[in-house]
Amino acid sequence: MTDIRLYMFQTGRIRQREVNIKLGAGQDVFYTPIPWFLITHPKGNVVIDGGIAVEAARDPKGHWGAVSDVYWPELTEDTGCINAMQAHGFDPKDVRYVLQSHLHLDHTGAIGRFPNATHIVQRKEYEYAFTADWFAAGGYILKDIDKPGLKWFFLDGPQTDGFDLYGDGVIKMIFTPGHSPGHQSFLITLPETGAVLLTIDATYTMDHWNEKCLPGFLTSAIEVSHSVKKLRMLAEQTDAMVVTGHDPDAWPSFRQAPAYYG
Ligand SMILES: [Zn+2]
Repeated sequence: MTDIRLYMFQTGRIRQREVNIKLGAGQDVFYTPIPWFLITHPKGNVVIDGGIAVEAARDPKGHWGAVSDVYWPELTEDTGCINAMQAHGFDPKDVRYVLQSHLHLDHTGAIGRFPNATHIVQRKEYEYAFTADWFAAGGYILKDIDKPGLKWFFLDGPQTDGFDLYGDGVIKMIFTPGHSPGHQSFLITLPETGAVLLTIDATYTMDHWNEKCLPGFLTSAIEVSHSVKKLRMLAEQTDAMVVTGHDPDAWPSFRQAPAYYG
């Protein structure tokens, strides 16, 4: 019997200007950690996002193209999701689902790397990746997403809010658009820890969580604002531990694999 556990991993960091993370901030260099998550579960293990694709470790400019002038990935190959999992004794074949919060370039590292996995994403996010507006198009690296033979399962918008992956309340997907059109966050309920809210990029940092500023990358400020409100209510209802998407100060305070939350 596999225990239900949440493991937190990191594929390096991205170097950019602070204004790219916090709307209206300055031009100072700002580093953001790139988290991803593994949940072990008796019905099959689950990867959330998978961080940056490992190819960007070998050749950042070649893999990301022009957007690397704005966002520069700094990761080593051993932090790629497959390498990191195997180093900690996990078998990629045991991953049953890859859950995508959204499809930005620092969240697509797992797609197509797990032979038995079904990939779950909001249909709107998938479609937008291929049809993005000019200001958002750089965020999608289509070769990370559009791979042959993938098994996808598409969720269709607000009516799928609260989608409960295994029907046992452990992994729920929360529809939180605004940062991107089909963004979702995750409410994980663990046997001992209780509720853990992975906001992902619905709030990059605690500034966003505390409604002090907006993210430097978004498709709708109004949706961002509504999604943050919704997540704050959810955290209050469930007394959740809140994990924001890319906060360089908060992220080191969480247990990193091989430590875990049970
Ligand atoms: Zn994003």
